[in-house]
Amino acid sequence: MSFEKFGLAPRLLKGVKSMGYQKPTPVQQDAIPPALMGRDVVGCAQTGTGKTAAFVLPALQLLGHRRKVGVLVVTPTRELAQQIEEVARHCARFTGHKVMAVYGGVNYNPQAARLRRGIDLLVATPGRLLDLHRRGDVDLGSIEMLVLDEADRMLDMGFWPDVRRIIRVLPKKRQNLLFSATMPPQVMAVIGTELNQPCRVEIGRSAVPVEAIDQAVYPVDSRQKSELLAALLEKRGLDRVLVFTRTKRRADNVCRDLVCNGIGAVPIHSNRTQAQRRTALEGFKNGKYRVLVATDIVSRGIDVDNISHVINFDMPYRREDYVHRIGRTARAGSSGTAISFLAAEETAELRNIEAMIGFTLKCNDLEGFNYTQRLLSNPKRQAKKIRRLVYNGGALSGRRRRRRRTPVGTSV
Ligand code: ADP
Ligand code: MG
Repeated sequence: MSFEKFGLAPRLLKGVKSMGYQKPTPVQQDAIPPALMGRDVVGCAQTGTGKTAAFVLPALQLLGHRRKVGVLVVTPTRELAQQIEEVARHCARFTGHKVMAVYGGVNYNPQAARLRRGIDLLVATPGRLLDLHRRGDVDLGSIEMLVLDEADRMLDMGFWPDVRRIIRVLPKKRQNLLFSATMPPQVMAVIGTELNQPCRVEIGRSAVPVEAIDQAVYPVDSRQKSELLAALLEKRGLDRVLVFTRTKRRADNVCRDLVCNGIGAVPIHSNRTQAQRRTALEGFKNGKYRVLVATDIVSRGIDVDNISHVINFDMPYRREDYVHRIGRTARAGSSGTAISFLAAEETAELRNIEAMIGFTLKCNDLEGFNYTQRLLSNPKRQAKKIRRLVYNGGALSGRRRRRRRTPVGTSV
């Protein structure tokens, strides 16, 4: 399979080649032909599978040069908007299409001014797009194609009401492309009626929704994390365990400690050579190593079935990584377990994660483990839904302020 087979315009092909893409990825192979035929497409594939070009290429192929927004790509974050803009610019290098991304956190006026000069393909985060529309600085009346990228994250981040508002002002007759790493039922519930007999493209294992994974927090002093990990691994049922650490060094150290304890473990991170990474992954897949210790950077490439447990030795820096990490543990339909070690200094990260997933995580102690010098007592907390905080003009509500004063350890 080659990019030539899609029948793309030669100038567009030239752009693709200039990015160094030799042949299409599976999601591109499956999604591009129906999209080129004008069909709606729902594409579900893990992060890193090449979804961006899967919508950028058909979009540019079908797009005229009217200097009116013909294609709108909506995506949850500024970083994603910038990434998509870059890919689209690259692909459009020889086609003459004008590509632009608008997002919050930067000056409004320059964006509005550039929009007035005429844009063909617009990438946007929901908030800034609605602002521009409200103030009459963007005309969405000539949209022929809408792309929703990372639909699951837009849902997680509470953007659906905005996305709905955007959809309401778009022309009814248009092509829709929806891309996501996971496809939670809520996404389809909202968007399903907007789609016109969509072609479904599903690549690889579809990640399970967060709710389907049994998640627990284990409060522990940072100096006892290694010991707790070794103790946990003595339990039965932890057959194929993926451990995440914050840094490469910590991954190496954790591995060394496990091996000293007689547990088959191997590290995988960006300081390891390609060959070492491959051997590690293969050994993990075929059972030679029970534990794979990884950093977030390489976690995207770990596609191993039947991982029984994901253990967050350290909380992730970026809360999105939490979902990516724990999503490795269960195939669609079956369940998995995720355990997060929580040192006192990591409570802010935990709060952030909980705010994103919409519920608090239960806390557990490992029975029989000798916890020493724990700054954070086990709150014996159960999982529960978080009431969405309502923004009331800058002041936090009384309830929230009271919660803030509660000492660490009672309401992590
Ligand atoms: P996703 O949106 O699925 O997470 P991206 O579109 O961001 O994935 O692509 C992931 C990486 O793969 C990027 O670095 C991108 O440049 C690269 N990539 C995408 N398509 C191809 C291809 N056909 N050949 C080589 N690399 C590709
Ligand atoms: Mg993407």
